[in-house]
Amino acid sequence: MDVISKEYDRRQLKLMYECLLSFQNKQIRLSELIGSLEFLLSAMESINKNLENKFLNEIATIDLINSLEIIKETEDKNLQFNKKESYELVDKTVVNLKKMILDLLTNYLKKPDLKIEESAIAVDARWLICSNCNDAWESVSYDAMVECPKCDQVCHNPRYKKLKK
Ligand SMILES: [Zn+2]
Repeated sequence: MDVISKEYDRRQLKLMYECLLSFQNKQIRLSELIGSLEFLLSAMESINKNLENKFLNEIATIDLINSLEIIKETEDKNLQFNKKESYELVDKTVVNLKKMILDLLTNYLKKPDLKIEESAIAVDARWLICSNCNDAWESVSYDAMVECPKCDQVCHNPRYKKLKK
């Protein structure tokens, strides 16, 4: 199972995810997406070589298509089909990357992050209060960590401790 162990890396992953969404929504170009992904990946601290290579392989795929795209601009109609195939491959790679990131974010929350001191407060079986912004949110999670949807702070989940006793 691939894991990241730092809250800092969780933030990089979330930024990567946002870039992928922006690309899907046509707000940024492919070249900008590649640049951002490479930058954010290189900033991560708890990522191992194996996992880093998985990311780099996916990025290499879209990077190659991006380079081909530039060459193709001068070429003829016979390449139209390839163009369609290339776009499909880009879409598929973006979906793969999103899934990899979501899995990592999910896995991160499953283990207690001992560098984080804050604990959320359980109001009842459905609601938690963030110790950072004091906002309540609905959550039925029993994971070790929970993240506040308002301020994005990660806190320990009080229900996780209860479960262990
Ligand atoms: Zn909060």
